[in-house]
Amino acid sequence: MKLRDVLDNDHLLLVECNDCNAKTPLDPAYFALRLGVDATIEDLAPALVCPVCGSADIGLGAHSPVEHARARSAASPEARVYPPLR
Ligand SMILES: [Zn+2]
Repeated sequence: MKLRDVLDNDHLLLVECNDCNAKTPLDPAYFALRLGVDATIEDLAPALVCPVCGSADIGLGAHSPVEHARARSAASPEARVYPPLR
């Protein structure tokens, strides 16, 4: 996946540490400005370490907090913000 795709989908990069199990979201715009939008997630991963413990044993993926929020609201339709009509 290219940084262009991460940005187009409003996703964040997510560093998942295999040592301390921390999951750290990162702004893809920072890497797109440095490396260009055609750089891939696979290009970035070897240069990154876990921001929490400094381990190089990390996995890198894309993450969308928005999709999780949509899934929750779809599961409970009564939680929608529309006011009831009377
Ligand atoms: Zn870590």
